Amino acid sequence: MQLLEHQAKQLLGRAGLSVPTGQVFTSAIDSAAPAFPAVAKSQVPVGGRGKLGGVRLVHNQAELQSTVREILSLKIKGHRPESVLVEQAVDITRELYLSLRINRDQRRIEYLTSPDGGIEIESAGSTIIIPHNNTNRIDTIATVLKLDLREVESLLADLERCFFDNDLLLLEINPLVVTAGSVLVCADAKILVDDNARFRQPHLPWHDETLLRPLGGTIGVIANGAGMAMSTMDTIYAAGGEPANFLDIGGGTGEDIFVTYLRQITELPGVTSIIINIFAGITRCDDIARGIIAASQQIPGLVPLFIRLEGTRQEEASDLLRATGIAIQPDLQTCVAKALEVRV
Ligand code: GDP
Ligand code: MN
Repeated sequence: MQLLEHQAKQLLGRAGLSVPTGQVFTSAIDSAAPAFPAVAKSQVPVGGRGKLGGVRLVHNQAELQSTVREILSLKIKGHRPESVLVEQAVDITRELYLSLRINRDQRRIEYLTSPDGGIEIESAGSTIIIPHNNTNRIDTIATVLKLDLREVESLLADLERCFFDNDLLLLEINPLVVTAGSVLVCADAKILVDDNARFRQPHLPWHDETLLRPLGGTIGVIANGAGMAMSTMDTIYAAGGEPANFLDIGGGTGEDIFVTYLRQITELPGVTSIIINIFAGITRCDDIARGIIAASQQIPGLVPLFIRLEGTRQEEASDLLRATGIAIQPDLQTCVAKALEVRV
């Protein structure tokens, strides 16, 4: 799981690292920033926000209002932020790069560091790698970053505590800044948590990553298996239609899955119908039918569903659906043809 910046900074702060004072905004309400000048930062799970207008300096309340509003409506690499982190701006003299990560190929944990941190890190070319158990790591990193030895010692101790205590795969600080007052501050952070550690890190903000990928068309798609989802999309394209999304529900059959996904697809702009294409092996058609029925009862304004449902317990499923007035189509082609006939 990747944490959002504000969540990552919370972990860093708890481990004793220095992070800017900040506040999370989910709408452009009338609360003040921690202090001006402030930096408003789009909370999307991708990097490169600075270059795409997702990190902006603001000087007063009016500017804060309009900037927060703009950032909330600005998509970055396909992600629309649910929140904006507003922090007291840091007075930067140098931007450094420091990360700690698990390198599976090398079977080790290692530091990556560079004195040329910031938004151009990809092209910096000055990054060096130091195994985490290297006894000279403190000296090496202090030399590379031109920092005080003591400072680096405590920085690495805090970083390692954060890394190990939280079962991280990656802890990246970019930039790690030296302020005008010569203080080290983590101005940005990217944290990846090992999903397998969920059971012992219950306090972390776990979220189930949605497998739904909006594509902008009018016909929603739910299929079991990525191949099924793609062939469903191909069939829609071949018939002259446009899929509204990609979604592979895998072996998922729970009622909550159907309610969640059918609601999310119905709410995508421009969607006029949804095709459900399931070929059940281990999955049972009657479970799927119950999910569809629950969704159709719970979602107001649900668009028409065109269902292809074949395989294990197909008869039971069609009995269940028929009893609630929901039809199963004879094949995918029929689903697509009918979906194309739906007009808003
Ligand atoms: P990213 O582009 O998604 O990695 O977002 P960052 O949080 O790393 O911000 C990008 C750049 O914005 C940084 O490299 C800094 O140059 C600048 N920046 C971010 N926060 C501050 C701040 O508090 N003060 C100043 N002066 N610049 C900042
Ligand atoms: Mn950054």
